[in-house]
Amino acid sequence: MFFFFLLLFLLSLSRPSFPATTPAPPPVTSTVITVDAHIATWHDFAKFLDAGKGSHVSGMCELKRYFNRFGYLPIPDNNFTDVFDTQLESAVVLYQKKLGLPVTGKLDSDTISAIMSPRCGMSDTSHALHKTRHFAYFYGKPRWLRSPPMMLTYAFSLDDMIDYLSLWEIRTVFRRAFSRWESVIPVNFTETGDYQSADIRIGFYRGDHGDGEPFDGVLGVLAHAFSPQNGRLHLDAAETWAVDFKSDKSKAAVDLESVATHEIGHVLGLAHSSVREAVMYPSLSPRTKKVDLKIDDVEGVQALYGSNPNFKFSSLLESENSLNQANIGPDSRFSDWTIHLALLL
Ligand SMILES: [Zn+2]
Ligand SMILES: [Zn+2]
Repeated sequence: MFFFFLLLFLLSLSRPSFPATTPAPPPVTSTVITVDAHIATWHDFAKFLDAGKGSHVSGMCELKRYFNRFGYLPIPDNNFTDVFDTQLESAVVLYQKKLGLPVTGKLDSDTISAIMSPRCGMSDTSHALHKTRHFAYFYGKPRWLRSPPMMLTYAFSLDDMIDYLSLWEIRTVFRRAFSRWESVIPVNFTETGDYQSADIRIGFYRGDHGDGEPFDGVLGVLAHAFSPQNGRLHLDAAETWAVDFKSDKSKAAVDLESVATHEIGHVLGLAHSSVREAVMYPSLSPRTKKVDLKIDDVEGVQALYGSNPNFKFSSLLESENSLNQANIGPDSRFSDWTIHLALLL
């Protein structure tokens, strides 16, 4: 019974979209991740695969609540129904555009797989400056306001840690994550032991933890952070947080550094990007590391804070170009993720 339902995510890799003129796509490389469906949040959304407009599927209201939660569907006058209606179709189209998926308006496998993927808890609604796929800001474009040179402090809530990673490991991961943002903007992050007075306050929390955004257990929502100048950065304590996939073999392991880097982007004022390769893309597959800021992330954050005088855009451009060139082989690891899904009974 325990292994009755197995959920397979076939993560196929394809070539990134930058630069525009790259050769033919590489051979597809697949990785299979198996997660016990009973423990993964949103696992039962698989039953909506290929549900058509006008159909009635029990539990469809939960999918509508998901779209409402992440900014794609307004709350109706009455309760959400289990009918695939026009509003849901519009939400699916918006979602597909935001996530860089083929825009079909249907609950196809790409879309259902993306919906079921673990993701950040922040809504995808944002102040869209651009109609193209791009970085985005929160409403009002909030940023930290300090006299230069800007220095922000961060601290960990020692009462809200996880016991299987040491504080040293967690501090090291966050130090690296802050450094990445530091290297592109004129902002300095310094750790402090004074949690109460720190600008950025970091902790691991389980379920309802008092900020109106309860965590949901294994996978599903991984973390969330608040826009400037709030500074709260929360991680779901129910996840299997990993600092090294070689030593952590769990199929549901989530890379702490990738999520830390993403959430710091929110703390600084970036909302979700539609660029799949960007750190600020809303979802992250288990056992995936995505820590390097991409041009999209850098352009977004520099429009808020300006450039670090030591940062050279040309070197980032070169490294992305060379990465893209290197990715043409079958061992590509930094590419677009196209997620296909199958249910084995
Ligand atoms: Zn996010
Ligand atoms: Zn929280």
